[in-house]
Amino acid sequence: MSEQDVIRQRLRVAGVVQGVGFRPTVYQLATSLDLSGFVGNDSAGVFIELEGEAAAIDEFVLRVQADPPPLAHIDSIDRTDIPATGDSEFVIVESQRHCAATTLVSPDLEVCDDCLAEMNDPADRRFRYPFINCTNCGPRFTITRETPYDRPLTTMASFVMCGPCQAEYDDPADRRFHAQPNACPDCGPRIWLEQGDVIPTHDAIADTRRRIGEGAIVAIKGIGGFHLACDARNADAVSALRERKHRTAKPFAVMAADLATTEQVADLDDAERVLLQSPQRPIVLVDETEASDLVDGIAPGNNRIGVMLPYTPLHHLLLEPGDVWVMTSANYASEPIVKGNTEAREKLLELADVLLLHDRGIHVHCDDSVLRIAAGAELPVRRSRGFAPFPVRLPVSVPPTLAVGGELKATFCLADGENAFMSQHIGDMENLETLDAFTAAVDHMTGLFRIEPERVVADLHPRYLSTRWAEDNFGDRVVHVQHHHAHIGSVMAENKHTGPVIGVSFDGTGYGIDETIWGGEILVGNLDGFFRAGHLGVAQLVGGDAAVKRPYRMALSHLHAARAEWDERLPAVARATAEERRIIRQQLETGLNSVETSSIGRLFDAVASLAGVRHEISYEGQAAIELEALGAGGTAGSPGGDGSYRFELVDRDEALVVDPSPVVRAVAADIVTGVPAAAVSRRFHQALADAVVASAQEMRRRYHIDTAALSGGVFQNVTLLEAAKRGLEESGFAVLTHRLVPPNDGGLALGQVALAGRR
Ligand code: ZN
Ligand code: ZN
Ligand code: FE
Repeated sequence: MSEQDVIRQRLRVAGVVQGVGFRPTVYQLATSLDLSGFVGNDSAGVFIELEGEAAAIDEFVLRVQADPPPLAHIDSIDRTDIPATGDSEFVIVESQRHCAATTLVSPDLEVCDDCLAEMNDPADRRFRYPFINCTNCGPRFTITRETPYDRPLTTMASFVMCGPCQAEYDDPADRRFHAQPNACPDCGPRIWLEQGDVIPTHDAIADTRRRIGEGAIVAIKGIGGFHLACDARNADAVSALRERKHRTAKPFAVMAADLATTEQVADLDDAERVLLQSPQRPIVLVDETEASDLVDGIAPGNNRIGVMLPYTPLHHLLLEPGDVWVMTSANYASEPIVKGNTEAREKLLELADVLLLHDRGIHVHCDDSVLRIAAGAELPVRRSRGFAPFPVRLPVSVPPTLAVGGELKATFCLADGENAFMSQHIGDMENLETLDAFTAAVDHMTGLFRIEPERVVADLHPRYLSTRWAEDNFGDRVVHVQHHHAHIGSVMAENKHTGPVIGVSFDGTGYGIDETIWGGEILVGNLDGFFRAGHLGVAQLVGGDAAVKRPYRMALSHLHAARAEWDERLPAVARATAEERRIIRQQLETGLNSVETSSIGRLFDAVASLAGVRHEISYEGQAAIELEALGAGGTAGSPGGDGSYRFELVDRDEALVVDPSPVVRAVAADIVTGVPAAAVSRRFHQALADAVVASAQEMRRRYHIDTAALSGGVFQNVTLLEAAKRGLEESGFAVLTHRLVPPNDGGLALGQVALAGRR
């Protein structure tokens, strides 16, 4: 080859390219193509310089794009010509820390098959080692303090690699080349048991299994925090856990040893099997089988259970085939998940009998993700471990923006350009502990991605802790976005749709522009803004929170709004004392101590109570969840099915009102005449889906828009979501639904960014 044929190019690779074995792949490819130069990490991603024949450099780019390492995700490769330097070899250079474009950080991922095989091989030096990992697997997000992703900037900094580990780390041909959490039994993290003091044992795994078998509750340190674990077939252990956590009914997630074990207790379809085994290893909400021998206390009043498979080497060592353990986040009711050893000793010994600790630090907490399958596709309920902080791509480019979300199921979103980094699940922003965790997570992510927010977006609700936090910290820079607008903005953003749309925003509660409580909104507009083109007919929320916690009060309120009798044969009416009814009637008639609401969540509460399903709740959405569960598997709307109720659409002050009165009266009549609650549930779900379709048709007639967008927490209800989507599609609508972020308030921050970004 003559001198003239040699060129040199600088390549910038953006995407998830750090901590995923990218540099060794580059090294091997470059040397095999006789290219010289170097590769390294910086805060913008991976930088490469290549010198050699032009055709070889072209082939390099083609091959790295066609066959990147398994966990890598290449967004772009930029190439610039630079003068040749006469390099003769290819090297991997030190990481550089300098400010530049945003780097992407890999989420935490399940242990890979190669590592598992080594862990189960008695001849391997990592036989039964709970912290085995490689460049293709293991913790990332939760151990990374700062970028670039390099060992000294992770919680592995304190562990000095032994000779064999260092050799792997330094060998470009090794699966552990620059694997930052690389470790072995000689040099890496360890596990031990504590119960006040360290419990002497030569096998902490076997002892943990024995304790669980005896009915104990064990706090187990994981990737993003502690779990509380017990045997899911031991009724005493499960009820002790409920008592200690003060958690009366909210379902507990379980971990099953493997897929075969899962199929003993749950009915899975193919989509659910794939999702359970995906590298994110989320909790998947699935149908429990009739034959399941798990105790009822795991998910009272619910035919669905949340199941996940083992995702750390430690889980694989702990659970043996046939085992199903409760694995619930270790925290008190609404506080964040516990993640540190000191904190665990202080807080968890009241909840757990024994602690299984390790000494690899968790820099930020990250709860398990939760998903369902709806209409054959993934529907996130909580987007956290395995997904955060991988970005959602926006359909518009935004300046550096921080959106702080809502109140319940809080997440925030940090965005710059087209990247929207949704945070891990933070929790319900109702107390100082959660607010502290929120602040820590914001600090972590702004540092990780070097995004200094120029604009901050908060909910319109003046009393949300997140709104107040934003105003306290950013003052004038805060822009407010209405809650239901943000929900529709969220589903539009993840579908890369800028509008116009007919937005159907159904949830429990959100502060309306008219200062009433919204929650059944038909919005028309695009990412520049919406107007309220229609809404559910209002009822009174009597006594504020009391009406939310006691669905029978909503039943009385909706009966009143529907001008229907408070017939004592109705369980909801019988549930209230005569005195209570007298006071509620007075408040309804005078409007005293009550506020109007168009909330679909509250309508679900009213119907659930009228049907005798649930009169008081102990967690958000409980009545609606149990009403859906009761009707699941029914045949509403299909020939020979249960039929449907009918909402009435009426025009009032230029807005379309979806009047629930005929539905409420029909439900009451059905219950009085002895129609089973399951049939009532199915008729109600079908009626609501029909109302969505009828409203959308009316909006299409008025505004000539044929895309419908469904969002808000009510659309976690798969029965409703599937029926509404099917009905809309049959009527010729394009339908946007959630696949990447939750329809509930956990997805709100994405919509806040999308809507406030271009202002
Ligand atoms: Zn691995
Ligand atoms: Zn070692
Ligand atoms: Fe909401």
